[in-house]
Amino acid sequence: MTPGITLKKGGFSQSLREALEDYYKAVPVSPSCTAMKWREWADNPNVIPFRVTKDGKKLGWIVYNSAESTIEEILRDKESTDEKDLFHMVDALIARETLVAAEILKEDTDRYRWMVEYGFRPTRFFTKNNVPVIKMDLSTSILFKRLTGHKPPGAYRRKERVAVEKIPESQTYPEIKKGLENLIKKLGGLKRFVKPDQTVVIKPNIVSDHGLKDGVWQGGIVTDTRVVKALVEILLPVAGKVIVAEGSSINRSETSKMFAHYGYDQQLVSLDPRKVSLVDLNTDEQIEKSVPGGKRMHSRKIPLTLEKADAIISVPVLKIHFAAIVSLAIKHLQGAVPPLEKYMSHFFGLWQNLVNIHHLVKPKLTIIDGLVGQEDFGPISGTPKKMDLLIGGINPVAVDAVAMRIMGIDPATSPPVLLASLQGMGPIEPRLIEVIGPDIQDVMSPFQQPEIDLTGGKDITIHGESACPGCRGYLHFVLTKLRRPDPKDTSRLLIDRPFEKKVNIFLGPTHDREINREEHNIFLGICQLHNAHQGTHLPGCPPHAEVIVNGLFGLFPDVEKPKYANESEEKKLGEMLHHILTMA
Ligand code: SF4
Repeated sequence: MTPGITLKKGGFSQSLREALEDYYKAVPVSPSCTAMKWREWADNPNVIPFRVTKDGKKLGWIVYNSAESTIEEILRDKESTDEKDLFHMVDALIARETLVAAEILKEDTDRYRWMVEYGFRPTRFFTKNNVPVIKMDLSTSILFKRLTGHKPPGAYRRKERVAVEKIPESQTYPEIKKGLENLIKKLGGLKRFVKPDQTVVIKPNIVSDHGLKDGVWQGGIVTDTRVVKALVEILLPVAGKVIVAEGSSINRSETSKMFAHYGYDQQLVSLDPRKVSLVDLNTDEQIEKSVPGGKRMHSRKIPLTLEKADAIISVPVLKIHFAAIVSLAIKHLQGAVPPLEKYMSHFFGLWQNLVNIHHLVKPKLTIIDGLVGQEDFGPISGTPKKMDLLIGGINPVAVDAVAMRIMGIDPATSPPVLLASLQGMGPIEPRLIEVIGPDIQDVMSPFQQPEIDLTGGKDITIHGESACPGCRGYLHFVLTKLRRPDPKDTSRLLIDRPFEKKVNIFLGPTHDREINREEHNIFLGICQLHNAHQGTHLPGCPPHAEVIVNGLFGLFPDVEKPKYANESEEKKLGEMLHHILTMA
């Protein structure tokens, strides 16, 4: 960040109008278009003209649409003699607004050039007022780099409380229930969260069927059924209705099978069939809601069950996620949206879209099931780690920050947790979080994080130093599927198969290697969108595993690609992918 820059809300002044007209003459844009734009801005209360100065010197103007987090215009003042002032101006804006986008004229190749150099990427091409326009989204990886050590004015400053409860090692059901009661008591008691006769939705994590294999419980993958059962029992004397709701991520149409798999019918509904029910959020009716600030996705479809609930209690698991670093309170709500929304989150920017869900679905209470956590290659294929803990609180960011410190991980390393804190959703700083219960140091036990191996093969080179954990984790996940014997020659691995043309895989916003168009180039994610025309682009931020599988296995047409889900699910995923890629 450049010090000494100020951003002040101004008006639609004559000097701004003149600067706009001068700039558009040079692009060139017709005067009628300029006049139309000016009128549109003046009529839109969300459009703010910011005057930008550095140490008293006028740098220029940013016309910013706060409802869509989009730069409508950015202009240098006559006093500005250095193009880098544009960088300083954007720095000042992201210091205040974090993740922003911009709309630029397709003809404006000069602006396109410097915006790409800064870290914006062309995510959509469309026509506005009959003029071709490009939507430029800022790379989240670049945002984090430029905001390192900076605390935006909108960041959280209030103190939050997070409770930690140690459960006896024996983990009997009465001990778990007692622990849960103690935890809720530490946070102010159940009455604080649930009023008599209200409808309460419990959202556990039952991401897949991996948590119970051949009748044997595999800890740390899904929320322990005993925790959900104890919570239902605690709620029943007060609540009018208790709904246990989830939308599984693997084999999405099969949440109801997951409920049966984990015994929810027998163990939960049977507690009081008149009051307790199960809802599959993947097939629930939906309501479309606008996202405040409109960062990345402007609206999200939310299941009606969550929208109508008087109180939501989120119950994630204490576990590692190979791309998000952890899957705790913030990541957990990915399971709360319908399948197409889950998929779209990846395409438009998973980290921001996870934060966005929390604007629309607001659990009154989060309780992390840390009876058994999961380390290494979570959220499904890691190793169980017994922790005997429950961690709870009202603010999901503070809850994640405490849980991550207990796991021995810096909360700022998880992109969605960091983004949520930068955007004022909650604190990650220890001084802003009061921990009720044992000291973090007394219960802390470092979780093994997955080793991300991005080494390529004989003719495959990977350029990914600048990528955030998202693309790195997902690419690692798919590369492991290439590290097996090549059916054409079993003495080598598939990844070492020789190719006529060298293969390069680029990820992250920057790389040192010049792109050689004679080679086979594969570009990953929004960060590499500006290079898409020079090879194969795999869309997303991070690209969904399915997209990377399709992209990389395209190099091996004779090899059957790994299945991400069963056949009917594969078909649905294919349809969803097609739907997203052909959206206007
Ligand atoms: S495209 Fe990949 S590297 Fe870039 S911000 Fe998204 S996940 Fe991170």
